[in-house]
Amino acid sequence: MKCRHCQTELHDTFIDLGFSPPSNAYLRQEDLTRPETYYPLRVMVCRSCWLVQTQDYAHYDQLFESDYAYFSSTSTTWLKHAADYVDMIVARLKLDQGSKVVEIAANDGYLLQYVQQRGIPCLGIEPTTSTADAARAKGIPIVEAFFGVKLAQEIAARDGKADLIAANNVLAHVPDINDFLGGMAVLLADEGTITIEFPHVLNLIEQSQFDTIYHEHFSYLALGSVDRMMRTLGLRVYDVDQLSTHGGSLRIYACHQHAGHQPTQALERVRQQELQFGLETIATYQGFQARAEAIKLDLLQFLLEQKRLGKKVMAYGAAAKGNTLLNYSGVHADLLPLVADAAASKQGKYMPGSHVPIVSPAALLEAKPEYVLILPWNLKAEVETQLAAIRQWGGRFVIAVPRLQVW
Ligand SMILES: [Zn+2]
Repeated sequence: MKCRHCQTELHDTFIDLGFSPPSNAYLRQEDLTRPETYYPLRVMVCRSCWLVQTQDYAHYDQLFESDYAYFSSTSTTWLKHAADYVDMIVARLKLDQGSKVVEIAANDGYLLQYVQQRGIPCLGIEPTTSTADAARAKGIPIVEAFFGVKLAQEIAARDGKADLIAANNVLAHVPDINDFLGGMAVLLADEGTITIEFPHVLNLIEQSQFDTIYHEHFSYLALGSVDRMMRTLGLRVYDVDQLSTHGGSLRIYACHQHAGHQPTQALERVRQQELQFGLETIATYQGFQARAEAIKLDLLQFLLEQKRLGKKVMAYGAAAKGNTLLNYSGVHADLLPLVADAAASKQGKYMPGSHVPIVSPAALLEAKPEYVLILPWNLKAEVETQLAAIRQWGGRFVIAVPRLQVW
């Protein structure tokens, strides 16, 4: 396999998680009697540009065939994050009624609603019909398509270029990352700013977050690798924020290579942090497999012990992280009888691979579990508040990553 960005032949495995179905392939009752498609889930690192990336295989487009969609507005934490971002960026870039804002992967309008409330013209790009419809219902104009150079040329010709292009948690999900970043260069105004948020691969390694790896997540990014890719396309990063979202993310600020934005001290500080951590040293990527295996063994031991003791362990959060953890650990409904999720679209379905049934949070509380395993550990505080009622019968919370904790 060749690197998605620089075409160098890849030889170095970062982690091999075996085989699993796509993490968004939730099953209906009638699907349980049919065979499921499993794909290899292996992550490689490029020694030339240091892009960390999933192994390529045929038919990755099939991963997106699912009728299921994630609605960003279901997370109150994420809505607040979006509102705070809009406050900050509008002030910093002095955006007003004469500006143009484009968000790529606008989802259900969770972010652009705050831009629109200020009377700033905006456009969302969102390929999933159900979330695009939800954004339109908020009055936000949406182009329903995947983003790349061709779409960027069409939008720029029709609406003009953008003063701000925002892209949160989408760059890692793009199979053709050069076409995506190239499209941003086409659509960006001369002195415009691009902000991109993505989980920082440094945190993934440091915090053993192997459960953030799944098929639809093609790249695992760093300031160094993103800046290097951007420079081949006429862009550069000029500032960076370190965020606590998704277990540690970066928000990078980028512009055209010859624009006036000055590089900040934060940019140099994070760059040095990445180099000192060893993101451009192959040894840093070796040994990660053993840490993932240790987490798997601790989780299995905990579940088996509680099973023997007759205690009920149930999970919360039927999302991608949970699917990776359960499939890699080989956990099924015999050890984990149900998983609750607030999204009504998932309730009544089954987790891919593990076949754990998905229920409402109310149904989980009715079952009175002794332990609730929080699968999306990044939403730990939010889930703990939501399910505080388990304390009435002495229930406790559990997370498996970065190490097993019970409280
Ligand atoms: Zn490369």
